[in-house]
Amino acid sequence: MRIATYASHSALQILKGAREEGFETIAFGPSRVKPLYTRYFPVADYFIEGTYPEEDLLELDAVVVPTGSFVAHLGLELVEKMRVPYYGNKEVLRWESDRSLERKWLEKAKLRLPRVYDDPDDIDRPVIVKPHGAKGGKGYFLAKNPADFWEKAERLGVRDKEDLFNVQIQEYVLGVPVYPHYFYSKLNRELELMSVDRRYESNADAIGRIPAGEQLGLELSTNYTVIGNIPVVLRESLLMDVIEAGERVVKTAEELMGGLWGPFCLEGVFTEELEFVVFEISARIVAGTNPFVHGSPYSWLRYDFPVSTGRRIAMELRGALEEGRLDEVLT
Ligand code: AMP
Ligand code: AMP
Repeated sequence: MRIATYASHSALQILKGAREEGFETIAFGPSRVKPLYTRYFPVADYFIEGTYPEEDLLELDAVVVPTGSFVAHLGLELVEKMRVPYYGNKEVLRWESDRSLERKWLEKAKLRLPRVYDDPDDIDRPVIVKPHGAKGGKGYFLAKNPADFWEKAERLGVRDKEDLFNVQIQEYVLGVPVYPHYFYSKLNRELELMSVDRRYESNADAIGRIPAGEQLGLELSTNYTVIGNIPVVLRESLLMDVIEAGERVVKTAEELMGGLWGPFCLEGVFTEELEFVVFEISARIVAGTNPFVHGSPYSWLRYDFPVSTGRRIAMELRGALEEGRLDEVLT
């Protein structure tokens, strides 16, 4: 068995971790990035050109570790149909990609979520308006009240309530971004807190560099295009909140979709009332784990050797292989 992933996102870490657990590794993707995975950072034993070279992967006895890039490049339908074994539960993909199913899952897990407004005329506090399918905050806008909403929405072509299916209006939650990364082991039925990051986003993290007085004249709108990730260590008294939120998400996944195992991430903010408000779940490895190639403070507290999320995945696959339980973790 070999461990394979798409050459982007968190592939360096996944392949490095797989090597550390004694697996041979495969990266696949555009030929331009081959040197990154074979020469500058020699983590891949094989590099195959292509978005998803199925026949080669089958021949090499590969298991695919999915990342945000893999799923984005291949698309949901093809991922569901792929013949190469996939680490994780594919059932989760539908729940995660549909805003209303995702909300149902997170609500059932009793997470604190931003309020959603169906009627803009009910807006009674600051809101963030998200056009459906928008990426990286492009087209998002903030509004203070119904009049402000209608004025700004008109620029997006939303003129009356009939057009509203195009946008979601969420309560704007003031807080600092916190993205805890979890790993749930199906083999030993335990949840681990692997690490925590926040994103470094353009232009959200750039606007604060301009004095407020000058910002006013520039008519800036906020975007959240990810450029990198910054490690976060949480205030210790918040750790139980974050862990319990993760436990409830795993438990409800068992009731709703046959389980969530492997790495996942809750994306949210912590408010000044110390409340963790979650916007989204990513049900696979997130690139925010990349600062922790050599382990994080949390994985170091649990293990006596450096454990990244990539390595933790490989440890699980190694354990499943040795116990003859691969069919339980692959779909
Ligand atoms: P890429 O392969 O870099 O084009 O990324 C594929 C998807 O993963 C995009 O939706 C990105 O927004 C997301 N992504 C990539 N890198 C990161 C990162 N370092 N932090 C958060 N999200 C990321
Ligand atoms: P998203 O496209 O949903 O991942 O959101 C991109 C970014 O917008 C997040 O990383 C947050 O910084 C911010 N954001 C999204 N939703 C909210 C919200 N309801 N309240 C405050 N900030 C938000």
